[in-house]
Amino acid sequence: MTDSADGIIRIEDLEFRYGEGDFALLVPELVVERGEKVAVIGPSGSGKTTLLNLIAGIAMPQRGRVVTKGVEVTSLDDSRRREFRIRNIGLVFQEFELLEHLSVLDNVLLPYRINPSLRLEPPVRQRAATLAERVGVADKLGRYAHRLSQGEKQRAAVCRALIAKPDLLLADEPTGNLEPANKGRVLEILFDYAEEHGATLLTVTHDHDLLDRFGRVIDFREFHSITAAPPPPQVDAPEARA
Ligand code: ADP
Ligand code: MG
Repeated sequence: MTDSADGIIRIEDLEFRYGEGDFALLVPELVVERGEKVAVIGPSGSGKTTLLNLIAGIAMPQRGRVVTKGVEVTSLDDSRRREFRIRNIGLVFQEFELLEHLSVLDNVLLPYRINPSLRLEPPVRQRAATLAERVGVADKLGRYAHRLSQGEKQRAAVCRALIAKPDLLLADEPTGNLEPANKGRVLEILFDYAEEHGATLLTVTHDHDLLDRFGRVIDFREFHSITAAPPPPQVDAPEARA
């Protein structure tokens, strides 16, 4: 365990590889402070989704530590990591991960069904309706998720991530399937939420025109240079000493 004053997210000396393929993610250190709004950018395939999965404890590194909200997730077993995630993190997955055979409302309320410490009381249903209204899917609450467009699924996934009022939000290209008007609505709701609740927001995005809304930008090319061979040891050239 680490003091939460050390940042809501702290990654140290991390190395991650998938079982197959030669992709490697090496992060010597990354700290995100409580309440920060961070954009994560970088080319497709550079490991942005993998990083979110490591922070959420969905993926486990071969080496190093991930401390999220003061809990060393890399030292928890599978079931504890899952429990930690559903209690603490609002996740908007790149592929939405809605349950297709459930209604939009039931998808939005899902955190209340899988987290034993949450109670599904009437104000929660009201809150689900309000969130759906704000992102423009209020008229779809009764519809099966598999009958939604990609953009509607994405907006339902954002509502689900916010419903249980997490203080850490990890959003993987949450506006990737949206046209400009809905993009604006979804961003507003994420930023307003973060402001209101003092929540930390980490968002993967390809919308470079939105970057000035964030307090910080993490560019994945930074980690890419790290995955390359280390630079040769520095040898002082005689002219450099002069
Ligand atoms: P990004 O989100 O930046 O597009 P990802 O984190 O999804 O990148 O993927 C990083 C790299 O890891 C890519 O080269 C991808 O092909 C590879 N990758 C992703 N998931 C898996 C997996 N389950 N098994 C093997 N390789 C994977
Ligand atoms: Mg991705």
